[in-house]
Amino acid sequence: MAYMIEGETGPWEIVVGLEVHAQVISNAKLFSGAATAFGADPNSQVSFVDAAFPGMLPVINEMCVEQAVRTGLGLKAKINLESVFARKNYFYADLPQGYQISQYEKPLVGEGQVIVDLPDGRSTVVGIERLHVEQDAGKSMHDQHPTKSCIDLNRSGIALMEIVSKPDIRSPDEAGAYLRKLRSILRYLGTCDGNMEEGSMRADVNVSVRKSGESYRTRCEIKNVNSVRFVMQSIEIEAKRQIEVYESGGSVDQETRLFDPGKGETRSMRSKEHAHDYRYFPDPDLLPLKLKPDYVARIKDTLPELPDEKKDRFVRDYGLSPYDAGVLVVDRASADFFESVAKGRDSKLAANWVMGDFFGALNSTGKTIETSPVSAAQLGELIDLISDGTLSGRLAKDVFALMVETSKAPSVLVEEKGLKQVTDTGAIEAVIDQVMAANADKVTEYRSGKDKLFGFFVGQVMKASQGKANPGMVNDLLKSKLAG
Ligand code: MN
Repeated sequence: MAYMIEGETGPWEIVVGLEVHAQVISNAKLFSGAATAFGADPNSQVSFVDAAFPGMLPVINEMCVEQAVRTGLGLKAKINLESVFARKNYFYADLPQGYQISQYEKPLVGEGQVIVDLPDGRSTVVGIERLHVEQDAGKSMHDQHPTKSCIDLNRSGIALMEIVSKPDIRSPDEAGAYLRKLRSILRYLGTCDGNMEEGSMRADVNVSVRKSGESYRTRCEIKNVNSVRFVMQSIEIEAKRQIEVYESGGSVDQETRLFDPGKGETRSMRSKEHAHDYRYFPDPDLLPLKLKPDYVARIKDTLPELPDEKKDRFVRDYGLSPYDAGVLVVDRASADFFESVAKGRDSKLAANWVMGDFFGALNSTGKTIETSPVSAAQLGELIDLISDGTLSGRLAKDVFALMVETSKAPSVLVEEKGLKQVTDTGAIEAVIDQVMAANADKVTEYRSGKDKLFGFFVGQVMKASQGKANPGMVNDLLKSKLAG
């Protein structure tokens, strides 16, 4: 289904393709042994190769190749057994070589696909055009000195995977869902940490609009957008701009634009460069990269269960709804946490507790599963106390709040606070007798046909027992007592 903006002359469809640069998880750079840790002092992780000293030769880092192949397999993509590194020539202050080593005509990974789960419950498939491996450039810093710019080459030479989607995305929502899913897959694979705020995943966003049934119109590329929200906003804003241009009789120029989230606009950076401007040619310092089929097969054997397969299994084995399963598998830690809570227990009850009170507590305390005050074993124990009747659902919520506060086991808290559910018939009957005696007038009204008062009596009994009376027993005993 297309995303339409109602314009004055009819509906427009948005067409988006994303080029995501994902930093490869590797201790060393793509063609040198320099370290890649984030946040190190400027220029402390730079080898002669990264600084492009004359006569230095690149040596491929096998770990980076393996990570890219693993990613390609995770994207259900074709792995090309022969790929070629090419020089992409351009001048920039933070690019000491004067070219970027990338892949052009023969990328390592070909066509693949990502299944995207949309907020409204639908799923759609976004095609992957290719994945190629390339070096990152350094970073210009303009805020270190009043009159000079500085260059940090720590990032120079770090391995990137450029993951190019087909123009299959039709709305800001779909773009957001695609990026989240891609990030989830990369994290499961352990090939990119997906931290957009640290720059390890950035997107170039290609946007055009068309009327339905038309072929593609001219697109604009919004460079280096560094959050999912900004990608979604920039698409909305850029599509509106193009529609306005067309509707006022103008034409859209192919160009590179910059998104300014503060001003809520995109603006022109430069007219779009074409591939031939870069004078690509195979890098004479590097042989074609040739892989053996059994090398690829060996990597395939080590792939973890990925989010789509895990989601299917959760629906099948735990009877969860596709939506709930989708929420739980977004990251591996949540999925693993749920599975240890659910093991040997009512899985729907486990899912409700994990996604409800537990995720809520993590949100409100700013904790993660790794730093959670409540362990999976403790949450499981709480569910056992509900299942065996020790705790009512209501009391369990109170106990859970105390668990978050104190990190104590639920059984300890139940004992300490005397929160155990009352299931003793005699004790509940005594409370009911008290409540009926104190509300004799209402008892008379009830007996003369005012059924609605039943809820009032339940409320009074629960209140008098401080919420500890077993609600099912209260119902049954009240009914028979009130009947007289
Ligand atoms: Mn690139």
